[in-house]
Amino acid sequence: MNAPRTYLDWNATAPLRPEARAAMIAALDLTGNPSSIHAEGRKARALVNDAREKVAALVGAASADVVFASGATEANATVMAGGWDTIFVSDIEHESVLHAAKATRARIVEIPVGHDGIVETGAIADEVLTGRHSLGRALITLQHANNETGIVQSVAEVAAFARAHGIAMHTDAVQTCGRLTVDVDALDVDYLSLSAHKLGGPKGVGALVLRNGAPLPNLLLGGGQERRRRAGTENITGIAGFGAATAAAKAEIATIDRQRLLRDRLEHHILAMTPDAVIIGRDVERLPNTTCVALPGGSAETLVIKLDLAGIAVSAGSACSSGKVGTSHVLRAMGTPPDLARAAIRISIGATTTADDVDRFLAAWTSITRTAAKAA
Ligand code: PMP
Repeated sequence: MNAPRTYLDWNATAPLRPEARAAMIAALDLTGNPSSIHAEGRKARALVNDAREKVAALVGAASADVVFASGATEANATVMAGGWDTIFVSDIEHESVLHAAKATRARIVEIPVGHDGIVETGAIADEVLTGRHSLGRALITLQHANNETGIVQSVAEVAAFARAHGIAMHTDAVQTCGRLTVDVDALDVDYLSLSAHKLGGPKGVGALVLRNGAPLPNLLLGGGQERRRRAGTENITGIAGFGAATAAAKAEIATIDRQRLLRDRLEHHILAMTPDAVIIGRDVERLPNTTCVALPGGSAETLVIKLDLAGIAVSAGSACSSGKVGTSHVLRAMGTPPDLARAAIRISIGATTTADDVDRFLAAWTSITRTAAKAA
């Protein structure tokens, strides 16, 4: 029999929710193409529209403003490819934003980050108010919360500045959707990206939410799907799972403090057992489910492997860049000392994480750090 596993890597991907699984299984047997006008097609179309309404409800948007895509990577890439003259990009954005922005012809203005992980918005104001460069069509892209540290940014504040200066605003809300209340009107953003698999839906589907008739380039040309905004026969199985997961995730936001308590207990015990440990971003607003912790001098990769052998799944830095040796660009941008950055692991929990899971992690942490201390 396989030993039980403790999955503490929800920011990389969340387990599939039963509601999403059921919706996907039902969708697999729908024959129709949502673009067909016969009964089979209309049934598939109804499923897509129902999911669209659920995704729209999660972020307070109109359903017509939700464009389904293959994930947040595509949603981010689509916004970046919007023909901007200037893109303001924070140094801690997900690679799918950073690389896509830098691949355009836009002038890139990097927004630096303080040691606390909060972006230095003064740098945006300096660039805009000094008028050194003409901005042309400009975009600010600022993540809502970081996938590695959980640190939350003041998107609404930056968006207000953007609006006052005629600059478009995008936020990557992949990590906040389903954890914090995310509302496009309250955030006042023109574009918002989200991903199904981070909230218990399937991998390979996500959405870009638009506001105020924000323009959008067509990355994919072809049929007239998604109101001519994204060609290709809809991934109705994925979209059905996304919709079902979204509805369940929305209902769960009210109970997020349960995760916060578990996370706080985890951190409390880590610090009690290993007082040298540093919890990144502890003094600023963070996602309630995320801990980024470093034992100075240690190696995150080694720790992740030892924890894996002990039956526990966590990440070193961002899972999307794992396999790559090197420190996280996020911690580097924050000026985290290299020996700390190399040691940082991310523990991220979710709705089905239990106190036993946390205890199993703490037992493994104790035994691994004790053995390492003895060997040193
Ligand atoms: N943005 C953030 C903040 C993420 O954490 C991720 C997933 N690691 C993505 C974008 C990419 O999402 P997807 O996997 O749906 O392409």
